[in-house]
Amino acid sequence: APYFLSSSGHHVFPRGINNNLEERPYLQQQHVSQRITHTDVGALAALPPGVDRAEWLASNTVVFFKNINLFFSALSEFCTPSTCPTACGPGNTVYFWTDDHGRKLKCAPLYFDYAMSYVQDLLTDEDVFPTKAGSVFPTGFVFLVQKVFLLFFRTLAHIYWSHYKETLVLGLHPHLNTLFTHLTLFCRQHALLEPEDTEPLQDLIAAL
Ligand SMILES: [Zn+2]
Repeated sequence: APYFLSSSGHHVFPRGINNNLEERPYLQQQHVSQRITHTDVGALAALPPGVDRAEWLASNTVVFFKNINLFFSALSEFCTPSTCPTACGPGNTVYFWTDDHGRKLKCAPLYFDYAMSYVQDLLTDEDVFPTKAGSVFPTGFVFLVQKVFLLFFRTLAHIYWSHYKETLVLGLHPHLNTLFTHLTLFCRQHALLEPEDTEPLQDLIAAL
């Protein structure tokens, strides 16, 4: 069988060639069906009547951030520079974080640390996410929200792809499925992600 020589010197089989259930255990029926609630999360995603759209996006961004940050923290001991030299997702997807100096950061814990700090900074910036009554959302607010949800999506893509085994061991897969379903329905409802962004997990989205 063909193999690649990875940088750590181990022989590894190329990824993303078989879309089988062994490679993607998150697609197995007994896992896909697990949820923490039977609430219709699609209904939770819709803009309630009389609520300002920007307010609704802002409050949901805060809640998703808390949940995703908590989830990633629970798995952080398994996501290290040696276990995850790249911030990868299903198939051959690799995410890079470009820092302020134009350097490309590859390793997963760094990528997600930067992503979470970036989002936290936005959320605590009163000019971007105003919390005071009567304040206005900035121009380009929706664009920033789209950027934030792309980072949320990538975080969950990395967890499904690289840390699903640990998620199962910790019994967190019903939480992960619920969170991911809510996130994808929310993004669809408010047109936050492009089809090419969600493509790496399209098979899971269809299964859920
Ligand atoms: Zn990782």
